[in-house]
Amino acid sequence: MCLTDKDLTQNPSHFEETDEIVTHRDMGWDDYRELIRGMRFFDPHIHMVSRTTDDYEAMRDAGIVGLIEPAFWVGQPRTGLSTFKDYYSSLVGWERFRSSQFGIKHYCTIGLNSREANNEPLAEQVMEILPLYLYKEGVVGVGEIGFDDQTAAEEKYYRLQLELAKKAKLPVQIHTPHRDKKKGTERSMAIALEHGLDPSWVIVDHNNEETVKSVLDQGFWAAFTIYPFTKMGNERMVKVVEHYGPNQIMVNSAADWGISDPLAIPKTAALMKMRGITDETIRLVTYQNAIDAFAKSGQIDVSDFENGLNVDQSEKFNGNTILRGGQQPRVAKDSLVIR
Ligand SMILES: [Zn+2]
Repeated sequence: MCLTDKDLTQNPSHFEETDEIVTHRDMGWDDYRELIRGMRFFDPHIHMVSRTTDDYEAMRDAGIVGLIEPAFWVGQPRTGLSTFKDYYSSLVGWERFRSSQFGIKHYCTIGLNSREANNEPLAEQVMEILPLYLYKEGVVGVGEIGFDDQTAAEEKYYRLQLELAKKAKLPVQIHTPHRDKKKGTERSMAIALEHGLDPSWVIVDHNNEETVKSVLDQGFWAAFTIYPFTKMGNERMVKVVEHYGPNQIMVNSAADWGISDPLAIPKTAALMKMRGITDETIRLVTYQNAIDAFAKSGQIDVSDFENGLNVDQSEKFNGNTILRGGQQPRVAKDSLVIR
């Protein structure tokens, strides 16, 4: 499949143009499974409502034991407050249950995304209900928030949500814009500092080689999205880690409804291993740093997932199960995680 520039600009959530030759999407399971055997991964940015049960199974088999699902843009504008409510409810409810059924601990961040901040009448209503969700169990931050087109409305709701994060004592997950990224990233950080946020409570996402130094120098967490065709590919990620080391750096897939790869983290870990990066550095950037950053919420207990969740696919959520009529719960597993 060949993507044109036009296709890329029509998928604005996580796409950014690049000329990089991406390798990880071509990696087959047999190419990398031995390289990551025994490793555990934590994906701090992935939109599981858009993903399939095959994805969940493959993620678990590849060692992903926990994840964070940020609230974001669903690909088309929402038409009313109810759909925001239902979406947030699914992040703390059904999707979390679904993830548990595949042995993966699910957390989320809750926020008004930057694109929909531009619908001010609706944004006002969303601001009213955000506190109802921010204090729920398993909500580890306010996110993903920040700038898209860098409009005045986006700035207004970004600032209001920074205040909500301070009040709720939650970390902030910042989505940086794809157009004018450098400027948008600097502006996002300056505003966070202006509101008195401690940079160690702020995760700046979707970094690249142009933004990373300033993010690290100012004491923020620098997250990198490994995305097919766009943003950081994993060869570039390896170079960033070789150059800057593992401190304050984390990797995520940002897999969503677009062409994306929920196995981006294990594949990047495998590539790091091939390139001679130490196991400890790999562990920090693909697992521990994300946990440390979001654990400031007080909502993450590593003992819940570090050795995998017990899976019982016959469990129910409000009377519903992931099994369809006649299906048997999955028993045989191909997991690399040591139990
Ligand atoms: Zn996202």
